[in-house]
Amino acid sequence: MRPDLADVLAAAQVIAGVADATPLVPSPHMSAICGHDFLLKLENMQPIGAFKLRGALNAVAGVQEAAGVTCCSTGNHGRGVAYAARARGIRAVICMSELVPQAKVDGIRALGAEVCIIGRSQDDAQAEAERLVREEGLTEISPFDDPKVIAGQGTIGLEIMAARPDLEVLLVPLSGGGLAAGVAMAAKAIKPSIRVVGISMDRGAAMHESLRAGRPVEVEEVASLADSLGGGIGLKNRLSFPMCRDLLDEVVLVTEDDIYHAMQVLYYEDRIVAEGACVVGLAAVLTGKVSVAGPTATIVTGRNLDMDMFTRIITGQDVALGDTVIEGKRYGT
Ligand SMILES: *Cc1c(COP(=O)(O)O)cnc(C)c1O
Repeated sequence: MRPDLADVLAAAQVIAGVADATPLVPSPHMSAICGHDFLLKLENMQPIGAFKLRGALNAVAGVQEAAGVTCCSTGNHGRGVAYAARARGIRAVICMSELVPQAKVDGIRALGAEVCIIGRSQDDAQAEAERLVREEGLTEISPFDDPKVIAGQGTIGLEIMAARPDLEVLLVPLSGGGLAAGVAMAAKAIKPSIRVVGISMDRGAAMHESLRAGRPVEVEEVASLADSLGGGIGLKNRLSFPMCRDLLDEVVLVTEDDIYHAMQVLYYEDRIVAEGACVVGLAAVLTGKVSVAGPTATIVTGRNLDMDMFTRIITGQDVALGDTVIEGKRYGT
């Protein structure tokens, strides 16, 4: 049931030609701070603007053409499933609630998926996806707790280790853990001594809380600059939880202020536009929350962010997030 390196190698064949083998580029600024090469894996350059295309393509490949696929993510997973299904000529139905902003609905539709708008909560959308599975024979694709999805994300680890066999530390943004599980499994199969650190925001970090509790637990979801890292891991989690438990050397948490600053660093020093979720690895190094001893890489996981909010951050303005305000600070002051 647990995917292994052979599954990742097979996934690499399956996704080739649709998902890109993205560049792994040095960050001179971060390298100078670390005293070692610090590398950025640019998954923000994937066709959908995020790495989730990899897992979605590998999962969709296992589904009968006639049936079709469904999920209820309005974020990068929904985009990945929509794009992967269209690339393979398979029907995709993405379920979402009436409260989802029109821009997100339009974005998913533009990728060729059917959008099913139902109810007023994520739970209603989830119930509809489950109905489509029961009554119409669609296959639901999990964003992280699926062996094909994990193997697909693992291809990132394969590419990184092929490019830099001397790598000693991998810093991986962590939410549901499909990315961290796949990347850690592939990287450690190739180089057992590599240290893999999962990084989340310090409010509402479901995997971190679950690892501490020793079983999947629920956490309250809180607004974060790293919005792609929000959400639970599922109380019935079968794969990404035990894999993260066994494969991650450590999990580190960063604050919203840390993320705000690291977004400025990635923008001004490396000229990269990326989501808050992408910079948690930089933030952990910049704040000394992880120390790196050797060549280090992190994954710039996606670029699908609210540009108004991004503009506020890079110009040093305050950002309102749910019940809190992050105090602005101009970069370099
Ligand atoms: C989904 C996602 C993550 C986290 O991946 P998990 O497999 O859920 O841990 C990180 N960054 C971005 C941009 C994402 O879309």
